[in-house]
Order: sequence, then C-alpha cells, then structure tokens
Amino acid sequence: MPQPTDWADVKVVGIPRSLLYFRFGVLWTTFFEGIGREVVVSDATDKAIADRGEHLSVDECCLASKVYMGHVDSLVGRCDAVFVPAYPTGEPRTGFCTKFQSVTDVVRNTFRDRHLRVISCEVRNVHKPKEVRRAFEEMAARMGVSPRDARRAIKAAMEAQRAHDEALFDAQNRLLKALEDHRRQVEKSGNPNAELPLGILVVAHPYITHDAYLSGAVIDALEDMGATVLYADAVDHEKAYKKSFEFSDTMPWLINRELIGAILLLQDRIDGIVLISAFPCGPDSMTDDAIMRCIQGTPILNLMIDAQSGTAGVETRVESFVDILRFQQKGGYVHG
Ligand code: SF4
Repeated sequence: MPQPTDWADVKVVGIPRSLLYFRFGVLWTTFFEGIGREVVVSDATDKAIADRGEHLSVDECCLASKVYMGHVDSLVGRCDAVFVPAYPTGEPRTGFCTKFQSVTDVVRNTFRDRHLRVISCEVRNVHKPKEVRRAFEEMAARMGVSPRDARRAIKAAMEAQRAHDEALFDAQNRLLKALEDHRRQVEKSGNPNAELPLGILVVAHPYITHDAYLSGAVIDALEDMGATVLYADAVDHEKAYKKSFEFSDTMPWLINRELIGAILLLQDRIDGIVLISAFPCGPDSMTDDAIMRCIQGTPILNLMIDAQSGTAGVETRVESFVDILRFQQKGGYVHG
C-alpha cells in the first residue's frame, strides 16, 4: 500500500523552544533543514508565553508543560505546521515522563478550533538509533521525501546532535578542571584569607535549567555570588545513565537517571547541589526526595518553581545557601 503524503505541502515547520527541544533541538532542526524545510523556532520564553500557556492548560499540568503550550500558541500563523513529536516509553529505564507521550494529542485537542496543523513522529526508544531513524524516516515519507533523502537527513541530524552534546560535555570538563586548578592554587598559597572557589551543580531537566525565564534567576544569583555553575545535563549522558544504576535499578525515567548519574559522577568534585523542579513534576517529586535522602556529604538546596510565584524569593535562598557553603569551607561551626 502506498504511504500517504499528506504532509508534503508543509514547507515551514514550527518548533516550540520548550521541553525536549533542549535535548534534541539540534537533531530536529538539522533534520528538517536536511529535507529542505524552513524551520521557525519559537522565541525564548517570556511572561506573555508563560501566561498564555497557563491559560491554555489545566491546573494540574506541570509548569514546564504549561510553558510548552504557550510556545505552540506563539507559532500559530508563523508556520505551516508545528512539530510535536511523541516520546513514549518503549522500554523500562529508558523512558520519559508520560507528558512526552501525550503531548501530541494534547496539542491537537487544545488547538483543534484554531485548525493548527501538527506533524509528529513517535520515537519509542532513544537508546536505539534504529528506532530514532525509523521514526523520522516515516515522518519524512509523509512529507513526500524520498527514502534516500530521509536517510541522509536523519544521519546528518544524529551526527549534529552528537557533536553538539560532545562539545557541551567537553566545555564543562574544561570548566571543572579550571575550577580544580584554581582550588589547588589557593590551597597551595597558604593564604588564610584567600577564598576557595565554589563549584555548584545545578540539577534539573534541561528545559528548566536552560530556559532563562524559568531558572535564570537561580543561575544569575549563583554567578553573582561568585560560584562556578555546572550542569548535570552537561555530563556525558551515556556515562551518567550507566552510573545511575548504582543509585536505583528500577527508576524508569531516562532524564532523571542521567541527572542522578551526573551527581554520582561529580559529587566528589563539587561543593554543593541545587535541585530545581517545576511544580508539580511527578518524576521529580520522587527522585528529588530520594536524592535528598541518599546523597550524603554534599549540601543540597531544593527549589520548586511554579506558575504563581515563579522564582520570587529564590535569590535569598541561593545567597543563604552559598553563604553556608563558604562558612563550611572556612571550618564551619566546628573550631579546633
Ligand atoms: S518530567 Fe516533570 S517537569 Fe518534565 S514534563 Fe514531566 S512532569 Fe513536567
């Protein structure tokens, strides 16, 4: 039976700058450009996008998925169709939060009356390159692209994403090394007044960490206090994933696994951890609690951001946390 080519007329593809765009955005944009489409990525989150997303969502949705709806809304009229892929859980321990399975249907239903076209593909297991290729090749067929061109485009897209991720991992490794060199120099100087550098690991889903509207205030506050900010999602995903099994054999969510694995890999090289969650995140409500209880010896600040209060008050909490870490570096409450 011939494949339908009902998406062949889609020339301009809109991509919401939200959720898994922060994980697979390079792959997605490279792929569409590789099959000759123009890509429009929504603007960075601002209050208007966040408010619109809140208005379009039911209260029970997490802040991140509400913001996503605002991004989709901002693309109406700017593209021929919005790309909303589904990432269902094909296998235990490499799955995503259920939001990523349902998001395509949620968007189609929410924007039904506005006749928004949605194109999609279903990636059942991101750990299996064959599955990723299959999903994008099937979508390309519906867009009227020949199998040969689709294969070439997805190959280039996967390579581009890999190169992008590796550059991030390398940059963070260099930053970490510079931090450790600095620490050694200060220790060697023997100057009791010299301040040791502080390395803080920010642990959050990438669409929280790297969305300045959602957690920029936290990152800015840490940097203003002179801390070096490191990111759990900028640690080699594969190594972090494998390491996470030392923490839990049964945890189902891939990104939470990678975040926890990153903590285990970096714990001895950092001074503190800042956990950031979007209210009411199901996976984080479980994993953050486990992290707080099981990660011993490294101070942790747990922050929750929600649609009402946003990041109000976080500066004060971050400042207190950094003050405590510096006090600890100087010997803390215990004096000889
Ligand atoms: S993992 Fe949490 S923050 Fe992310 S989409 Fe799911 S519920 Fe929302």
